[in-house]
Amino acid sequence: MTQDFQEINIQIPRTDKPRVVIIGGGFAGLNIMKAIDTRYYQVVVLDRHNYHTFQPLLYQVATAGLEPGSIAGPLRHFIENNEEVFFRMAKVTRINPERRTVTTPVGELKYDYLIIACGSRTNYFGKDEAFKEALPLKQIPQALNMRSHILQNFEKAVNTVDSYELRSLLNIVIVGGGPTGVEVAGALGELRSHVLPKDYPELNFRQMQIYLVEGLPRLLNGMSDKAGRKATKYLKDFEVNLMLNTIVESYDGKEVRLNNGEIIPTQTLVWAAGVKGNIIPGLPDEVIERDRILVDDFNRVRGSDSIFAVGDIAQLTTEKYPKGLPMLAPVAIQQGERLAKNLNRAMEGKEMKPFKYTNKGYMATVGRNRAVVDMPNGWSFGGFMAWMAWMFIHLLYLIGFRNKLVVLNNWIWNYFTYDRGIRLIIRPFNREEKLKQHEAEISGVK
Ligand SMILES: Cc1cc2nc3c(=O)[nH]c(=O)nc-3n(C[C@H](O)[C@H](O)[C@H](O)COP(=O)(O)OP(=O)(O)OC[C@H]3O[C@@H](n4cnc5c(N)ncnc54)[C@H](O)[C@@H]3O)c2cc1C
Repeated sequence: MTQDFQEINIQIPRTDKPRVVIIGGGFAGLNIMKAIDTRYYQVVVLDRHNYHTFQPLLYQVATAGLEPGSIAGPLRHFIENNEEVFFRMAKVTRINPERRTVTTPVGELKYDYLIIACGSRTNYFGKDEAFKEALPLKQIPQALNMRSHILQNFEKAVNTVDSYELRSLLNIVIVGGGPTGVEVAGALGELRSHVLPKDYPELNFRQMQIYLVEGLPRLLNGMSDKAGRKATKYLKDFEVNLMLNTIVESYDGKEVRLNNGEIIPTQTLVWAAGVKGNIIPGLPDEVIERDRILVDDFNRVRGSDSIFAVGDIAQLTTEKYPKGLPMLAPVAIQQGERLAKNLNRAMEGKEMKPFKYTNKGYMATVGRNRAVVDMPNGWSFGGFMAWMAWMFIHLLYLIGFRNKLVVLNNWIWNYFTYDRGIRLIIRPFNREEKLKQHEAEISGVK
């Protein structure tokens, strides 16, 4: 390949092969990188971070169970020894279909094929301003914010005499009774039972209340009734206060207001209520539906032959999923693999195959020894076996052998010692910085 750099701005060597630009090195992007045949294509991956994040374990970073490095992997590692794959750390701010380029703060880049795999972002359901003080859980820096913020509150609490202020420092409210909310509540319940009283003997942990607020009448709405009932029981074992059929109206950083008129003093509101597609400006409005990009069975963006969307950002409806496929890792992984194989087939003169989602089941964990699993055949189970299955699947899908070893090690240590060794305030929570990030995120800049 000639090292002739002639790009509009982003510097990528020239080649005669068609260039595939992938926005996002998440589950979908990574699996395209692995399966695409670089005998046919030059591949450029753009991501705002230089690492892949294993989001299903973010809550363990937020609750001092795991180091951030153990759930992430450097994206450059995946392109080692492949001269036809390039990575650039850059946030794509605009797609320009008419010029076949993407815009980033470090310049523009031309594509022959564009794959949008930029995932989702926190959904405040139109109340972005009312929940600017809430703590979202979508990225590693946010998980670290949560960890530091909770620990900083305990450090403040030991010096606080005012009883209302003390309650607001200790209380934690989690919004959203889906898998993330349930997992965070379970992990915090465990911390309160086994870890925090040892660290802070001067505090009375009967004063620390954990609330899980859910607008629907049940937990884990995307899973079976049985799973929802079991998760409810497990959380009650941890003395988590469940508030079903309840909506959080607003939060000012000190008090949460609920739609039933109740006010809970808390300086920690965890937002686990949902996500929406992370739309990048530039595509026509007609291809955007419910904040996702409409695609056909081949993940082609409607009306385009050269732009594809995969994973959380793609809106693919089927008879079984009339509202669109779920925003889950297996969907992103399977779509990434299928699309890469289809692009390879196109170069081999073969027909592309339509994407078909294989449901591998759903699971959520609620603290030690407790999890719920819904199998694809309708069988549902909970308890210790489900917890083992949850750990096995997460280790299996976790990126990198080193990460698997580190996580397994941590889990074994935590299990036998009832300890959470990572109760560290390494990067203190900074409210002003957090508010700036919130502003940037909701305005689409970040
Ligand atoms: C807390 C949490 C827990 C979850 N737990 C589970 C679970 O247990 N099981 C499950 O199946 N799913 C779970 N999910 C959902 C799962 O993580 C997503 O469905 C999956 O990550 C989607 O993959 P993706 O490739 O579409 O997007 P992502 O994995 O989110 O990757 C998107 C990538 O795009 C990059 N990016 C975004 N915007 C830009 C831009 N403008 N320019 C450049 N790069 C950009 C991001 O940095 C990121 O690397 C969870 C999600 C969260 C947040």
